[in-house]
Amino acid sequence: MILIPIVAFVVGTIVGSFLNVIIYRVPRGISVIKPSSRCPSCGTPIKSYDNIPILSYLILKGKCRVCGAKISPIYPIVESLTGIVFLLLYTKFHESPLVALKFMVLSSLLIAISFIDFREKAIPDALTIPWIGVGLAFTLLLKDLPILQVLLATVISGFFFWSLRLLFSKVILKREALGEGDIFLLMLIGSFGGFWGVYICLLVGSIVALLAHVAFPGKLQGEIPFGPFLSLGAFIGILTL
Ligand SMILES: [Zn+2]
Repeated sequence: MILIPIVAFVVGTIVGSFLNVIIYRVPRGISVIKPSSRCPSCGTPIKSYDNIPILSYLILKGKCRVCGAKISPIYPIVESLTGIVFLLLYTKFHESPLVALKFMVLSSLLIAISFIDFREKAIPDALTIPWIGVGLAFTLLLKDLPILQVLLATVISGFFFWSLRLLFSKVILKREALGEGDIFLLMLIGSFGGFWGVYICLLVGSIVALLAHVAFPGKLQGEIPFGPFLSLGAFIGILTL
């Protein structure tokens, strides 16, 4: 059945389209439900036929139909990325669709968090704190991981990162290091992926962040958002569960 993986990809692009709304609106404090999507330049509401994930961007050649203002390529990038992520998760977890769903929820949050953190250098609590409860509830219901282990992973990873932050901020660097949002991000990953998720997240996240730091020494000076690296690591953690 080749059809189902395609459906997973298409659903991913539609979710990605909504993640774009979250990425744009949540840091600005605008409701994600109302008003409907509109062009940031001229304010014209976007017609449903111009709101098809990926395709509309290509058909309109990246420009608003009304005023011709350039549309950020971030939109089709987020849509394609979410599509690919959903496809990979479906491939990995197709034998237990609800577990696939659980990790699709986490991955969607991680994508929104990564793009927001990259741009704003901060992770909105609304995308982490309440979802830690959702992660625990999923694990409790699906029993895909031992709940006690997941509960411990959530608490310990939060405490671990909080201590690390204290150590870096007060002793080593003597300036604000490792955002507060990263603590809740790690707890979120623990609540969905348990110790393995957190372990791979930290391992891969740190290595890739270090490599990026070496590869682009000038660009990443100052405050480096750690969220995208942790998210990438967490995703690899999920795929290797
Ligand atoms: Zn416009």
